[in-house]
Amino acid sequence: MKRNTFAIIFLFACYYLTGETTHLSGNIDISLKENTLSIDLILSNYEVNKNTITFALNDIYKKPIVTLNNQPIEVNKSNEKCSGCHYYEISVQEGINSTDKIAIRTQGQFAAFNAEEYPSDYKGLIAKTSGILRASEQTVWYPVLLSDDNNQSKLFPKYLYTYDFKANCDCQNIYIGDWKVDKSVGRFHSANPLDNIMLIAGNYSSHTGKEANYINIPDEKQRKALEKSIANIKQYYHQISGKEITTKFTIASIPSGRKGWGGFLTYPTIVFTKKDVKNNMITKSLMSHEIAHYFFSHYYKPNSTLYWFYLESFAEYYSLKYSKEYIPLTFKYRFYKLKKRKKHFVRLDKVRKRKDINSVHYYRIAPLQLMLVEQQIGNSKMQELIEVVFTKIKSNENGYLAFISSLQEIGVEQKKIKFIENEIFKKFNLPLYKTLK
Ligand SMILES: [Zn+2]
Repeated sequence: MKRNTFAIIFLFACYYLTGETTHLSGNIDISLKENTLSIDLILSNYEVNKNTITFALNDIYKKPIVTLNNQPIEVNKSNEKCSGCHYYEISVQEGINSTDKIAIRTQGQFAAFNAEEYPSDYKGLIAKTSGILRASEQTVWYPVLLSDDNNQSKLFPKYLYTYDFKANCDCQNIYIGDWKVDKSVGRFHSANPLDNIMLIAGNYSSHTGKEANYINIPDEKQRKALEKSIANIKQYYHQISGKEITTKFTIASIPSGRKGWGGFLTYPTIVFTKKDVKNNMITKSLMSHEIAHYFFSHYYKPNSTLYWFYLESFAEYYSLKYSKEYIPLTFKYRFYKLKKRKKHFVRLDKVRKRKDINSVHYYRIAPLQLMLVEQQIGNSKMQELIEVVFTKIKSNENGYLAFISSLQEIGVEQKKIKFIENEIFKKFNLPLYKTLK
């Protein structure tokens, strides 16, 4: 598909999903001397049919002060559990019109530690490590409005915003959303609705490359090697999917003290939390997973009971394909101790809720199942399947049935579908996994 058509479809998909987009604007103040984050943000263009709205905020923040059109209104902290965050409720008698403005103001103190110190660091933490503040979308560092769907985790689907922030910091650089790094004060805005807004601030080096931009990777040789790997991964994904990745990623090195944790993606920012971002097999393997989220997070929107399968297993499936071709040693490593994973095996046909599927299954077992499906139907049918199934799951809540009916729709023979169901999805089939090696 041509680059422009792709971009238009992507934009259209965003607007299609949101209709009218809620706008988030206002001030963000960061102090790396005091380790504080203050927000004074306004929600506008938000239409509700009900009188109560709920939003989540990270638990470092004090109870926020909220006004509606400059009039103070009551805000109540909900007793409901939110991981690392709190839910707040505001009630308005007549509902809210798109011209109304809800202002939310609060301040909090974030965790600050050296890279060696904190073994349980994770993506959902607002943290200053190695002198750099980092807050992913998962931390809820800005107010996130909640979905009404009680069946699902409350923070899904993530809320899409257009935004316009004025930010300042007692440090040299601020980065919000995408490539805006060389300022200690400035305006950060996006007219595209985004559900992932990354914040990074600190005194770090920043460089622009062809394939990506780089935060805190001062070594030119290292950046050149990363450029090569990213180009190679993008080219490979283009070859297997027929779709060009037009995104320029940002690669940030923010070392954390948690061993075995490679990093995370807050699209289009890939954060590496290892001590050093060497262009080795581990880095390539991590990047191939994160870059695959260009498809399975942004281009195709995961949904349904098998949310984690469609989000993570498909990204890891692409990454496995890349590994097999370019870094075969890491691919082989996937089979090491695989037998022990049997206890985490989940029957996807029995999953009724998102949380019924565990991370070992969706990161380690299901990607191999997808490789096996490909072994049965071939790469080109697999790409067809992806197109069909991701359209289907927008409205089909049962992700397993959507998968099977998509196989039928693209013309896979009944006998093969039976094999896929019985031998791949209904049992932990170790001998079959080994045929992939
Ligand atoms: Zn992932």
